[in-house]
Amino acid sequence: MVLKGKTAIITGSTSGIGLGIAQGFAKEGINVVLNGFGAADEIEKERAGLEALGVKAVYNGADMTKPGEIVAMVEEAREQFGSVDIIVNNAGIQNVQPVEEFPPEKWDAIIAINMSSAFHTVRTAIPYMKKAGWGRVINIASAHGLVASPFKSAYVTAKHGIMGFTKTVALEVAQNNITCNAICPGYVLTPLVEKQIPDTARARGMSEEQVKNDVLLAAQWTKKFVTVEQLAGTALFLCSDAAENITGTHISVDGGWTAA
Ligand code: NAD
Repeated sequence: MVLKGKTAIITGSTSGIGLGIAQGFAKEGINVVLNGFGAADEIEKERAGLEALGVKAVYNGADMTKPGEIVAMVEEAREQFGSVDIIVNNAGIQNVQPVEEFPPEKWDAIIAINMSSAFHTVRTAIPYMKKAGWGRVINIASAHGLVASPFKSAYVTAKHGIMGFTKTVALEVAQNNITCNAICPGYVLTPLVEKQIPDTARARGMSEEQVKNDVLLAAQWTKKFVTVEQLAGTALFLCSDAAENITGTHISVDGGWTAA
C-alpha cells in the first residue's frame, strides 16, 4: 500500500511526540491534520513546515475533552481530503499527585483526553476506513499502559484503558483491512515529561536531577530517553504492508523498562 497521498489525523500534534509523528508522516508524503493547543503563530509555523515537505497540512483546534468537536474534526478532514486513512490518538496530559489528593476534575480531564477521545475519533473514522477498504489506528499508550507507577492514578488508568480499546477495535475491524495497535513509549523528553519533573520531585521528596536519573531513567535499561523520531518510525512501520497482520497488540519502545 502506497502511503503517499494518504491522510492522517494526529491528535495532540502541536508538540512533542505528535508533532514528531506528523513530521515523520509528512516526509513519507502523508497529508496531515494537526491538532492541539498552542500559540497561533507557532502552530502556523509548524503547519507551513509540514507543507514545505510537499504534503497538505491543515490545523484543527478540536478540544479532546469535547466529543462534538472531535467528531467535527474527523468529518472536516474527510471533506477536505476525501478520506481519513490513519488516526493517531496521541493527545495526552499528566498529573502527578497521591490518589487521596488527586483533584477529581484532573481525573476527569485525563480520562477524557488520554482515553475517551480515541473512542470518538475511531467511532467517527471507522465507517470511512471500511468504505475505503484500508485503515490504520495507532494509539499512543505508554509503558504505563502495561505497568504502574505511584502518583499517576488517572494516567495509568487511562493508558490501561486504551490498551483494552485497542484490542477490541482490532477484533471488530480485522476483516476490513484495518489494523488497530498501540505504541507504548518509555520516557521521551517532551514538554509533558519536563512539566512533571518538579511535581514528581515534590511528591517523592527528591531533587529534580534525582528524578531524571533515579526515577525516569531508572526504569529505562538503555539509560537513554526515547526520541520522537524513533516513535515516528514505529508508527510508519505500523502503517506499512509488513504490519498488515499486526493488530490488537502493542509495540513497546521503552528501553527495556517493561521487560524487567
Ligand atoms: P506534549 O505535552 O508535548 O504534547 C501533548 C499534545 O496534546 C500537545 O499538542 C497538546 O496541545 C495536546 N493536548 C493537550 N490537551 C489537549 C486537548 N484537550 N485537546 C487537544 N489537544 C490537547 O506531550 P507528549 O509527551 O508529546 O505526549 C504525547 C502522548 O504520548 C501522550 O498521550 C502521552 O501520554 C504519551 N506518552 C508520552 C511519553 C513521554 O515520555 N513524553 C511517554 C509515554 C507516552
